[in-house]
Amino acid sequence: MASAEQVVIIGSGPAGWTAAIYAARAQLNPLVCTGVAKTEPSIVLPGGQLMLTTEVENYPGFPEGITGPEMMAAFQKQAERFGTRTRAEDVVSCDFSSRPFGLETSTGDRIEAEAVIIATGATANWIGLDNEMRLARSGGGVSACAVCDGALPAFRDQVLAVVGGGDSAMEEASYLAKFGSKVYVIHRRDELRASRAMQQRVFDTPNIEIVWNKMVVDVLGDSSIEGVRLEDTVSGEESTLDVRGLFVAIGHTPATAFLEGSGVELDGKGYVRMAQRSTVTSVDGVFAAGDVADATYRQAITAAGMGCQAALDAERFLSS
Ligand code: NAP
Repeated sequence: MASAEQVVIIGSGPAGWTAAIYAARAQLNPLVCTGVAKTEPSIVLPGGQLMLTTEVENYPGFPEGITGPEMMAAFQKQAERFGTRTRAEDVVSCDFSSRPFGLETSTGDRIEAEAVIIATGATANWIGLDNEMRLARSGGGVSACAVCDGALPAFRDQVLAVVGGGDSAMEEASYLAKFGSKVYVIHRRDELRASRAMQQRVFDTPNIEIVWNKMVVDVLGDSSIEGVRLEDTVSGEESTLDVRGLFVAIGHTPATAFLEGSGVELDGKGYVRMAQRSTVTSVDGVFAAGDVADATYRQAITAAGMGCQAALDAERFLSS
């Protein structure tokens, strides 16, 4: 068996690569398990959610914008420049009972590590319709992130729709109302789940209208979205709504299944529980960064910031 790695980073989105850049520059010789591509039950790619984002316009330093895949390739190149090594494998289970920790990979290998940074992200939940997924993959006007995509020219002055009734849906609708001519919020019940304050903001915005008791059952349009087919959840009646953008905001699922039984504490929704203002988890020597531990901000820039913190925390841990 090869000697234990100093630090293994699980995940290859902005948090993982930023942790790798810092760890590599600190001479920790990091290994990144990048994960492997999957299409079921939802689309997951090495590089994370940015791999499904066409244009990133809100990451500082890119005044002309950059595509998500280009940005992740640049992050990886920068991490590799300082000696980061990669393995294109998933980590499927973890033994954090003693150090060095043991990580079992999808090829059946075992990697040993003195410190681990979990940066596996979260995947946006989709409704699960074939045309929804097709247009999301092709950049045809279906997105799971209004803050990432909503300001793009294709959505300006257009009629848009958000699906969901939680805080994310309210936030996305309020954001989109600045660009779209009209924003429908399509919700499956007659009552919102969102906090009162967020609801009120939506009710007070003249160009937002809530479509109650409706499920999206199909997405219409060939190369770009032209509308959605709706089903009334009370009467079962079908109708269509013409929209030029659809933003799905029905929650996220953190990628933490592989942590089952590892001793790393998760919250009620499956996110890694961390100490306030640090990336320390419930297991000494195991750190977390990015969307896997953040249900609130979920931005590339916040994930990158947490990746930096996790590497600094890991470095301090290893030298203490
Ligand atoms: P959420 O609170 O779980 O809400 C998900 C919404 O999607 C619910 O209204 C749900 O409907 C609906 N939904 C779920 N599956 C659906 C499906 N298959 N088809 C149609 N609708 C579906 O998720 P979230 O809004 O992403 O919020 C997650 C957490 O982050 C929450 O704790 C939230 O408070 C927090 N957050 C906070 C802020 C903020 O304070 N600025 C912003 C964003 C998020 P039902 O209501 O019928 O279940």
